[in-house]
Amino acid sequence: MSAEMKAIVDAIEGQGSQRDFEGLTIPKTMRAITTHRDEVEMFEGLASADKDPRKSLHLDEVPVPEVGANEALVGIMASSINFNSVWTSIFEPIPTFKFLERAAKRDPINKSHDLPYHIIGSDGSGVVLRTGPGVTQFKPGDRVTLHCNYVDMQSPDGHNDSMLDPDQRIWGFETNFGGFAEIALVRANQLMPKPPHLTWEEAASMPLVNSTSYRMLVSQNGWQIKQGDNVLIWGAVGGLGGFALQYALNAGAFPIAVVSSEEKEQLCRTIGARWVINRKKEGYRFLNADGSHDYKEMLRFGKQIREMTGGEDVDVVFEHPGRHTFGASVFVAKPGGTIVTCASTTGYMHEYDNRYLWMHKKRIIGSHFANYREAWEANRLVCKRAIHPLLSQTFPLEQAAEATLLVHKNQALGKIGVLGLAPEEGLGVLDEEGRARHIGQINVYRNAVAGDFRLVKDQP
Ligand code: NAP
Repeated sequence: MSAEMKAIVDAIEGQGSQRDFEGLTIPKTMRAITTHRDEVEMFEGLASADKDPRKSLHLDEVPVPEVGANEALVGIMASSINFNSVWTSIFEPIPTFKFLERAAKRDPINKSHDLPYHIIGSDGSGVVLRTGPGVTQFKPGDRVTLHCNYVDMQSPDGHNDSMLDPDQRIWGFETNFGGFAEIALVRANQLMPKPPHLTWEEAASMPLVNSTSYRMLVSQNGWQIKQGDNVLIWGAVGGLGGFALQYALNAGAFPIAVVSSEEKEQLCRTIGARWVINRKKEGYRFLNADGSHDYKEMLRFGKQIREMTGGEDVDVVFEHPGRHTFGASVFVAKPGGTIVTCASTTGYMHEYDNRYLWMHKKRIIGSHFANYREAWEANRLVCKRAIHPLLSQTFPLEQAAEATLLVHKNQALGKIGVLGLAPEEGLGVLDEEGRARHIGQINVYRNAVAGDFRLVKDQP
């Protein structure tokens, strides 16, 4: 680590003032995890499952980007693996360099992002090091988390909901200079206050999936959950699902949590789910080998749900596995029910029987990340200690590829953190008292990984 980078870490750990941070020299280079443009064809002919992120993700020394108007340079203490880290590393559905090229063609200002390497990562926690002209809400020295809605709001189309802006992109996926680095470049409207009771890696494990789940289930752009709703949650202790489960429980709704192992089953119960389905143990397969639907399986799934709920069907389905589950999701939603979808992990060409949709007046809502207001509200709930991190493990930056492989293989519980400048795990907590009140929930995943599923109740 260079002397300049070390001075940044010292200032962060010493809780330096705005002046201290303004006086720091920004290093010329930094360590970052990248993909390389000249390698995008390296996995040609391989099945998705056989594409290995350890081959395509590199730890490089790269130049630190320049900060521009309405932007900030952030010293990244930690980031986290998201499924888009997997997509980027296996160059699917398209190499992310295409996004960088398109953006550069649209506006020359984006040319600085269109490089032979792509610094990935769509989550981050850290400290603001520099702000460009026009930044009014945050200043050097502020401790922040970063959400990944990258939008400058020049089009009228985005002014009711910035996710509708034609130039809306996901930072660290459709832009360069993401969170798997020692320093990241963000727009000022990606900055949010870091929850003071959390460590750097816990804070960094939340923005992307927490905000996405908030929009899908809570926001007026999604389902607007209410008490009593039956909520079917696929992957209920995965990245997204772990937050969906908490939103459902917080709302007084009844989650039906679907997972694939006994360990995850028990974890759902520990978090508070009454109804849990282990899809592996039950052997559910909704698609036949030829791609047609197995209606007997859907009926069996619906019957199991009714047995749990006392004969009720599902008000809303929290959908993201896609092709393998979507037909069943449409089937089990109650008349007038809704399927909210944000992804297609198992394939984006979905088939469902439209009779079940139109005859029963069901609805499908497409959802994508979150606007600044939604991300802010989701972060606020974390700051208020009403939503908790679900972090199972944390890796050093140089092992980001190994961590990405775990998510690719569906071997992760909740979220996996990646350290940036933070020299070790467990740092960054300013509100020790608030943390102590919620330590049971904060540690629930770590305890679970260690085989202890007791959820310690909050102190009043
Ligand atoms: P994750 O942490 O890997 O969790 C996904 C969960 O899905 C897994 O835990 C797994 O749970 C479940 N799953 C996997 N295959 C399944 C199958 N065949 N049938 C049923 N369930 C299955 O990933 P994530 O972060 O939650 O993201 C999930 C998807 O959403 C990814 O495709 C990601 O790219 C996308 N996403 C989209 C947005 C957006 O803004 N549009 C935001 C975040 C994520 P079990 O094995 O326990 O059932």
